Amino acid sequence: MDLENLEKILENEPDFRLKQANEAVFKKYISDWSDATFFTKELREKLNKECPLEILAETLFSKNQKTNNTHILTTVKNGVSGADSVKAKITLKDGLEIETVLMRHEDGRNTVCVSSQVGCPLGCLFCATGKMGFKRNLSVNEILEQAIFFNRYLKKIALSEVEGSSFGVTNVTFMGMGEPFLNYENVLKAIRILNDKNYFNIGVRSISVSTAGIVEGIEKFLKEGLQLNLAISLHAPNNKLRTELMPISKKYSLEKVLSAVDNYILATKRKVMFEYVLIKDVNDSKECAEELAKLMHNPSTPLRTRKLYFVNLILYNATGTFKPSTPQRVEVFKKILKKSGVNFVQRYRFGDDIKAACGQFATSK
Ligand code: SAH
Ligand code: SF4
Repeated sequence: MDLENLEKILENEPDFRLKQANEAVFKKYISDWSDATFFTKELREKLNKECPLEILAETLFSKNQKTNNTHILTTVKNGVSGADSVKAKITLKDGLEIETVLMRHEDGRNTVCVSSQVGCPLGCLFCATGKMGFKRNLSVNEILEQAIFFNRYLKKIALSEVEGSSFGVTNVTFMGMGEPFLNYENVLKAIRILNDKNYFNIGVRSISVSTAGIVEGIEKFLKEGLQLNLAISLHAPNNKLRTELMPISKKYSLEKVLSAVDNYILATKRKVMFEYVLIKDVNDSKECAEELAKLMHNPSTPLRTRKLYFVNLILYNATGTFKPSTPQRVEVFKKILKKSGVNFVQRYRFGDDIKAACGQFATSK
């Protein structure tokens, strides 16, 4: 899909033509300009040639079920999470690949986890995307394409299920490949379009951005005046271990990150999620749990902001060097957090069988 030249191609047409084109792509989810029957045949052909809508994608539903078909309608019930998850590897026009995941919740929400970069320059040791290195930033359209892909998919399902049943992406999380705050302008533009009533109409409160702790990004983000959800990849309760796992924390210490988070909370009154992936014998000890609990109750932080700290415990998807914590160690870790009054949730394993964690699909061959 390539909409870069859309405005240019339609510049000699009356203004409402661009509106019609956008509506067809972003509201009706057409995948071929031939369906835009309000355009002349010549224009449709020109658009198909110069602004193709086809999204090249490989869809993955379970470990052994791989297909090149973009429009498969079956989804695999994920026994662990009770939700359906579908992963797509999208090939961009320069041949690079990104991944995006759809999670269908039982309450009707459809969350899409989008990538913001091809690869990532931050090189966190436990992350498959980090191991890939950095290729390039995604354009606004390439970010939106991921949500469009699943809107088309959900539309097909809705049509095949109950006639007139509601469908569509309801939530977006920037937790796919890449560091969103290193592609700040495009991520923000994409968020504004996701939120726009004339496009995706997704509430800002249903959009989350996860960062490894790029302080300038957090500070800029809070000034946008949007009630977006912020998540911080914490993964360690002290600077020493965090720097070992996430080299970027040498530049942005925990103190600096937490201070930016507090400013975010004061400005937005939103709770902030601290992601903590439990890696066996690395960050899952009793001591780590106790240190994490202390950090979450940090006395240097005003009580009103601390109350809005939430820990999200994530089960690690093995990508090579590290192993996931054992269920016993996870239980002990949780008990300590609970006893210390830390707000936490444990993220269910979305699509564990389809390698749903960050970067594991596009990098798997
Ligand atoms: N770069 C951003 C957003 C993308 S990563 C960030 O780091 O926050 C989304 C989340 O998945 C992060 O919390 C990341 O640390 C986590 N993650 C990375 N590799 C993982 C793995 N193998 N298993 C589980 N979670 C992983
Ligand atoms: Fe990049 Fe996030 Fe992966 Fe770290 S965890 S390498 S910041 S994508």
